[in-house]
Amino acid sequence: MDRPRPTTLWHHGLMRPIVIAANWKMHTTPMEAGELAATIARRTRVPGVTRVICPPFVCLAAVRDAVAGEDVAVGAQNVHHELAGAYTGEVSAPMLVGLASWVIVGHSERRRDFGETDVLIGRKLRRAVEHGLRPILCIGEQLAEREAGRAVEVVAGQLRGALAEHDPAELDRAGLVVAYEPVWAIGTGRNARGVDAAEMAEAIRSVAAELGWPEAGASLPVLYGGSVTSANIDEFLTEPAIDGALVGGASLKPDEMAGIVARAGLRVEAATGTLGS
Ligand code: PEP
Repeated sequence: MDRPRPTTLWHHGLMRPIVIAANWKMHTTPMEAGELAATIARRTRVPGVTRVICPPFVCLAAVRDAVAGEDVAVGAQNVHHELAGAYTGEVSAPMLVGLASWVIVGHSERRRDFGETDVLIGRKLRRAVEHGLRPILCIGEQLAEREAGRAVEVVAGQLRGALAEHDPAELDRAGLVVAYEPVWAIGTGRNARGVDAAEMAEAIRSVAAELGWPEAGASLPVLYGGSVTSANIDEFLTEPAIDGALVGGASLKPDEMAGIVARAGLRVEAATGTLGS
């Protein structure tokens, strides 16, 4: 499918969009989700920052309606790799059309709890792209892998595995975003160092370049995820290689989201030369 790159920042002169994506995981009822989304949307109106809220499936409609008229995208947290069939409890890409415009694939909690493999995640990516859903592909190493000095090797392997059957140019047009999420940092209160996350972001772009990504991987947005808060987001936003964050626990708190998006706005201003003007 050939369609314009779905980013908001090219006109600001940034090479890649700055994205703050909220992963609400299995939290909120539809009513709570609508109220929370409306509050967050109202409190995070910052020019140039792409905001995405990913609530549970059953809250997608409530969040879509709550943010109507705001420049906030709605994302699903998962998608099935088949279009329809005997898959009790699952949700397919065509079902998401009209409810969501983004989708998270390959979150480490799904890899861990539901045995999702890189091959399966690659098939989910295909479904997302076919249906115009912008994917956030999550990859990241375990603590033991980092301690063994294998973090880059593991993350590169996940990326190669998920992208194996894909045309990089098509994924680039679909606006694929990679979220580097070291598993040991998710929900633990222990975040990676900015410098390590930036090194990984560059390694991810190198692998993308090897696979034939347009612009030698330079156009691929890479987010950091793992215990991001308003207090530590600058650690990542000050790294030019990192294009924002996938935020879990803190994304359920309007004060935290307001702080995180405000800091992301400063990064945009700094990059576009509007700071202090
Ligand atoms: C996540 O769910 O992707 C995540 C990074 O969670 P947390 O921010 O809570 O670590």
